[in-house]
Amino acid sequence: MQRSLSVVTRSPEETRILGASLAPVLLPGDVISLSGDLGAGKTVFVQGLATALGVTGRVTSPTFTILHEYEGRYPIMHLDVYRLDSFQEILDLGFEEFFDPRAVVVIEWGEAVEQLLPRRYLRIEMRRTEDPEADDDRLIVFKPRGEDWVRKVLSMRDTAEALLDAASPDPSTGSRFEVTSPTRDDGSTRKEA
Ligand code: ADP
Ligand code: MG
Repeated sequence: MQRSLSVVTRSPEETRILGASLAPVLLPGDVISLSGDLGAGKTVFVQGLATALGVTGRVTSPTFTILHEYEGRYPIMHLDVYRLDSFQEILDLGFEEFFDPRAVVVIEWGEAVEQLLPRRYLRIEMRRTEDPEADDDRLIVFKPRGEDWVRKVLSMRDTAEALLDAASPDPSTGSRFEVTSPTRDDGSTRKEA
């Protein structure tokens, strides 16, 4: 069963820490797809990830250029397909060529190109929580596709728990993360016993 792992971050910094926590398990050829509305925190997550992979320059959303490429421990291809109007436009760009096996590929709005993604990839869904008092809260759900990614996501969780605790100790005990069963058709998730 493909489980999801979810967590709520309470600041951009916490989201960067999550991104950074994923970095140690990333290898060339890995593909990550980020979903979520404008302002959900997709680029913030990539900033944490890229910095932890050794990127020193600024990481900004490639909304208008489609692709930013960074040199870190590996090349990082940072795509944002938000502005691509049609699937055809994506194909015309030669989208498959972005999946350089020497690079880590991160795609904002990746759900728009889901059919072009490899069989194994990490899907991350981000959204504001329903709490109107908590403007900076973001629900982040990791949906690994393939056993490799299940393992990587669990490793990320361990790293993130330690780094988040170090950054802001959580007075409540237990994990910040929640394991949920796969998303059902209605989009809801069920908590696992
Ligand atoms: P996206 O790429 O999804 O459009 P960005 O990462 O560019 O979104 O922007 C997210 C915005 O939300 C930033 O202005 C950031 O400071 C703010 N923000 C507030 N709380 C959070 C959080 N918990 N995680 C990420 N970003 C947050
Ligand atoms: Mg963005």
